[in-house]
Amino acid sequence: MSRADRGDRAERAARIRNVMREEGDAVARNTREHNAGRKAAAENVPEYEDLRTRARELKEHAIENLPELIEELRESVAANGGHLYIADDAADANRYIVEAVGDADTVVKSKSMTTEEIEVNDALAAAGVEPVETDLGEWVIQLADEAPSHLIGPAMHKERAEIAELFADVFDLAEPPETAAELTAFAREKLGKRIREADVGMTGANFVVAESGTLAIVTNEGNARKVAATTDTHVAVAGVEKIVPTVEDLQPFLELLSRSGTGQELSAYTSLLTPPVASPVPDFDAPAESLVDGNGDGSGVAADSDREFHLVLIDNGRLAMREDDELRETLYCVRCGACANSCGNFQSVGGHVFGGETYTGGIAGGWEAGIEGLDVAAEFNDLCTGCSRCVPACPVQIDIPWINTVVRDRINRRKADASDFAFLPDGLAPDAEPAGLDLGKRFVGDFATLAEWGHRTAPLANRLANAGPVRAALERVVGIDRRRDLPEFASESLVEWFDRRGGSRVPIDEADRDAIVYPDTYTNYVDVERGKAAVRTLEALGVHVRVPPLPPSGRPPLSQGMVATAEERAHDLYAALAEHVDAGRDVVVVEPSDLAMIRSEYERFLEPDSFERLAGASYEVLEYVYGLLENGAPIDALTPGDDSTRNRELAYHPHCQARTLDLEEYTLAVLERAGYDVRTSDTECCGMAGSFGYKAEYYELSIDVGEPLVEDFGGTDRTLVASGTSCGEQLDALLDRPARHPVELIAPPESASR
Ligand code: SF4
Repeated sequence: MSRADRGDRAERAARIRNVMREEGDAVARNTREHNAGRKAAAENVPEYEDLRTRARELKEHAIENLPELIEELRESVAANGGHLYIADDAADANRYIVEAVGDADTVVKSKSMTTEEIEVNDALAAAGVEPVETDLGEWVIQLADEAPSHLIGPAMHKERAEIAELFADVFDLAEPPETAAELTAFAREKLGKRIREADVGMTGANFVVAESGTLAIVTNEGNARKVAATTDTHVAVAGVEKIVPTVEDLQPFLELLSRSGTGQELSAYTSLLTPPVASPVPDFDAPAESLVDGNGDGSGVAADSDREFHLVLIDNGRLAMREDDELRETLYCVRCGACANSCGNFQSVGGHVFGGETYTGGIAGGWEAGIEGLDVAAEFNDLCTGCSRCVPACPVQIDIPWINTVVRDRINRRKADASDFAFLPDGLAPDAEPAGLDLGKRFVGDFATLAEWGHRTAPLANRLANAGPVRAALERVVGIDRRRDLPEFASESLVEWFDRRGGSRVPIDEADRDAIVYPDTYTNYVDVERGKAAVRTLEALGVHVRVPPLPPSGRPPLSQGMVATAEERAHDLYAALAEHVDAGRDVVVVEPSDLAMIRSEYERFLEPDSFERLAGASYEVLEYVYGLLENGAPIDALTPGDDSTRNRELAYHPHCQARTLDLEEYTLAVLERAGYDVRTSDTECCGMAGSFGYKAEYYELSIDVGEPLVEDFGGTDRTLVASGTSCGEQLDALLDRPARHPVELIAPPESASR
């Protein structure tokens, strides 16, 4: 790693530290509140998953038919008396908007991320027009001259007291408003006046209906309908991807949008405007009652109610994203912010770190790569750890981690091409990546090779790896933080142990089931005890177990964006397991992230039939145990031996990817059936996320993300339980006591094996 790269790491770590200190508390509180609200709101709607599926289908259809929908919309807007302009890029959009605004002094705006994207405020100011944000959060950001930190909560990073101070400074107030109600009333009074005085209103649009030219605008403040309806000229700005065919198509989106974003059943204001709005322009100088034409003679309304309407739809890279098989899914995004709220890293740092020029959170990787390019996406792409907690949160079922993985792969390859090592022939490393790939990524991505080598040379390798100079070199060269404990490689692997004991203790002709315990890299070479526990548990329940040497799943290279390598591993593992699956054997997986590979990501790598067969035959170990118990296996066959000495009280942190696969309930059910009292953590991700927490620039962030676990479990002496390797390491680091895999708590001792 070059000196410049090391400098970048230190700079990034310092920046993250600063933002966590300045903004972390407010972001954490607000995102976690919205995230909890989303979950509660979803639980109250029995057809929630159907709505997500319908919304997804509608988006797929709309993007597929986008050119036709644009033409249909063009006709609808023209028939209503408005103008539709498709802008190629930000400069084109701003040129058109400035012309449309004409000689107005002021443009009052409602919230629109698309106008942030094109930086219309700068363009207006350069043309001598004052832009005034009327969404409270956007106004705060405008006054503070900052960038939004969240898709729907632009000032989410600010505490109330800070906003009060800001108002006092900007407006020179001796007694600034203090409470939320006072702050809102202050803003309402100021902004109401600006809206009444303005000639041009600018809105965004959550959706644009092709058949009617209707704009659907969702707000909590009602400002969008005011700026649209009380001004002579309305300019609406939206991305081309916002078009839906019909008004009926709005239904699933409107059901999902607020629930996903804030947990509200519906936002306070859902406006369906079909501009130019037919109602007359109010004259705010006339007596108030005449605004509703109380005189019956037309007085109090503007004589000329001819309104202008301009709909500016922005391409700015979107049509190219539509042609890109990997980034296309980004265009389905309805910008609810749920992916950010459910993300452990985002909860700690917010959008000023986890975001690009405009967009924030997990989906920003796709938006910024498509709109601004890979350089901008590279600034924050690492912050998506692939934990997958955003996937069930997304109302349109976008595979956000996959988009970020693809973007990472593209960033890797571009950097590799520019590297000093690009001249080396490809194929020298044990992976399918170009020669110039970043060393840190290669070190982590090829962990399977490293682990095999560590096991063969253990315990020497362990002693060497922990020597001070080696740790310093590891930090300098590949970025592994020296504050982290390194994994200790076992001198006897799980496969070797299984061979030495003479294979399964349950003869095949006496067995109820025949199963492979998958010796994933970690279980085989590092945490061998949990693999042994899995073998003993299955045998106690009547399973003939096999532990053959098998290739790695490809999870570590995938986490580093080494997609070609991960795909190669998927094919290798499938080839090795196919004969077992054909023979009717089950595949039992101890490490949840490996099962997630097989059940989720392999769908992208294997032929559909192969994927179905392998995914259908594979189980997480506690899920498998649950199935055996449900089918009559006796629970009292488990945990004989040292049972009386066990702490029956457990503190269980479910693995993020296991949670996404809905696996935690099986673990809970089995542990409870075995007589344990289990307290479960709601924390989305432990913060370690595979190798993420090992990286020097992210170490402090990783610890911060795990802090809620300290709050959850710090004050108890419950036995810590985690099924993920990295979760266990993080719990140990945070609470200074080791965590156990759940299967170790139900496994009979080896001496009791039959
Ligand atoms: S990707 Fe999904 S969850 Fe994230 S903002 Fe877009 S719609 Fe919402």
